[in-house]
Amino acid sequence: MIKSVCGYCGVGCGLEFDEKSLIGEVSYPVNEGLVCAKGVSELKSIDTSTRLLRPLMRQSIENSFKESSWEESIKRVADAIKNTSASKVGFYLSGQLLTEDYYVANKLAKGFIGTNSVDTNSRTCMASAVVAHKKVFGVDFVPVKISDIKECELLILIGANTAEAHVVLNNKIKKAKKNGLKVVVIDPRFTPTAKLADLYLPIHVGADIDLINLLINRLINEDRVDLEFIENYTNGYEILKNKFKRLALKKMLKRTGLSTEQFEQFYQLFIENDRVITAWTMGLNQSVQGVDKNIAVLNLHLVTGKIYRAGCGPFSLTGQPNAMGGREVGGLSTTLAVHLDFDKESIKKVSSFWNTDKIAPTAGHTATQMLKEDIDVLIISHTDPLYHLPNRHLVEKQLQRVPLIIEINAYKDSETSKYAHIRLPAAPWGEKEGTQTNLDRTITKQEKLTRTSIDCKADWKIFQLIAQELGFKEEFNFSSPKEIFSEYKEMTRLSPDGHLNIYDCDYDELSKRPFSWGDKIVEDKKFFTKNAKANIVFVENKLKSEKTSLAYPLILLTGRTRDRWHSETKTIFVDLLQTYKPSSFVEINSLDAKKYGIYNGDSVVISSKRGSLTTKAIVSDEINRGAIFIPITDRNINYLTSDILDPLSHEPDYNHSAVKIEKKHSE
Ligand code: SF4
Repeated sequence: MIKSVCGYCGVGCGLEFDEKSLIGEVSYPVNEGLVCAKGVSELKSIDTSTRLLRPLMRQSIENSFKESSWEESIKRVADAIKNTSASKVGFYLSGQLLTEDYYVANKLAKGFIGTNSVDTNSRTCMASAVVAHKKVFGVDFVPVKISDIKECELLILIGANTAEAHVVLNNKIKKAKKNGLKVVVIDPRFTPTAKLADLYLPIHVGADIDLINLLINRLINEDRVDLEFIENYTNGYEILKNKFKRLALKKMLKRTGLSTEQFEQFYQLFIENDRVITAWTMGLNQSVQGVDKNIAVLNLHLVTGKIYRAGCGPFSLTGQPNAMGGREVGGLSTTLAVHLDFDKESIKKVSSFWNTDKIAPTAGHTATQMLKEDIDVLIISHTDPLYHLPNRHLVEKQLQRVPLIIEINAYKDSETSKYAHIRLPAAPWGEKEGTQTNLDRTITKQEKLTRTSIDCKADWKIFQLIAQELGFKEEFNFSSPKEIFSEYKEMTRLSPDGHLNIYDCDYDELSKRPFSWGDKIVEDKKFFTKNAKANIVFVENKLKSEKTSLAYPLILLTGRTRDRWHSETKTIFVDLLQTYKPSSFVEINSLDAKKYGIYNGDSVVISSKRGSLTTKAIVSDEINRGAIFIPITDRNINYLTSDILDPLSHEPDYNHSAVKIEKKHSE
């Protein structure tokens, strides 16, 4: 029996493999044997007709691809890098890479090529949480574990549809409910998650900060804040309190769309329960004010001292299996490595560790900026930016301008491949080994369950081949993921105050039990700001999203559906799919449907200022009026979405695009 870990979502469930099937691992603390349809079907994604199995190359995107050799392909990549300036080279990585892949790519790009434009698709899902954590705690740190849910009394889920996006976590919530856990779900859609709520608050899109600030304000006014915690562990409370005096409370409540009674019920639940966790994901992160929304939640937990105690805290849920690992390594263009920034001292430390003098002194381009810049060589690994970046017509034009695009992918039917020049076949889950960190800082090992397909390679090996072709043979001489992990582990000693204690972890032991870094930070109630206290920062709803108009009167919401994953290169083979929701549909409120003359099952065209798509309508009372929902498995969804970014995290405002809907008339 081989123990491994699921490579789909941020929960990171432990699995057992017995040569034929996968089951949930009972002794694994994260999932305790629970598993969802995606997890048990991972094996199906290995041996499929959709795999990319040979290196392919073409001179320009007008030509067709021809089979190529690894040598020829890598030489072309290295030559292009040599013939341009470092700042024109970009690495576009993925939260589905393993930590060792991330480490080698980051070391090569920042340490030896000299470009800091190494970013990841995680930019589009949890960059807002990263920036907020850094601003408030001083480092990017999630202070809650999944096991805390057992000890929690009240769980607030805001902008998180765990029943579909984090299935096993949701099952754990259901179990905890049997032992008395109360749940509040705040969402403009009555999602499957809302079905388990003790209180469901159908908030208007974009009013999250208003609601949280109303709660904080009431707690302050009724002396329900924890003054001792505030005094000992925080900065900025008095400023927040003074700023709250100016808030237009009635307007704020109106913006939430909630009644005074609904707010009162929420408030009562909050004050009646001592141990509270607030969990959120893309509903808050993917916003033009994503950082502020995160900060509002952190403020709530700081003023009430509901943090760094069992069963308490703000719990940012990452979407992808190793988004957290990427953050730790430094796979974001805004951090250098191991939670260090681009200050002189950090550059000195990292330069000495890597024995290089190539590190550029400023942050690179983020994934959402990179294509707007003058990039000559773009290496895209394990992700599909044309599918997932907002405002797709614009992204298509931007990709066409890049002289050399290298796509490293395990599957062949990506959208981005239309603009690639070189396609390199990567080993998928099950054909490689390495480590990943789940949403609560738990590091585990993915095991190789079958041989690597003949012409496919682990991503770290591909980055290493490029490095060696560039002449960095000594610096990139790793023979296994274990060797990479051991160098990376040593590097974590450089992290601020050594808080990233991955250096305590043993690679071989990870096969038997997972390792969780940072538990001591919780125990010691530590913050990493200048005076070691958390920063309470006043934020308010600035209404910066795209506005509806007569022409575009509805707001588009986007998100995952259960059993499906992103563009579906993998989950197309998952069992049970036929019994659940289709890949593409639009959910619309029944009164809005009536207004637009739309019936259940009608073909409809959804348009924004940027583009349109056609799909089938699902008429429902489980979504607020004025909003529609389309799942992200519709590959055309980003023809519609707005490319306004949060100014600090550069995360797109995916959940707030103004659109219209019309019945499609037969031609
Ligand atoms: Fe995999 Fe996530 Fe399902 Fe667990 S909940 S089995 S990690 S997809």
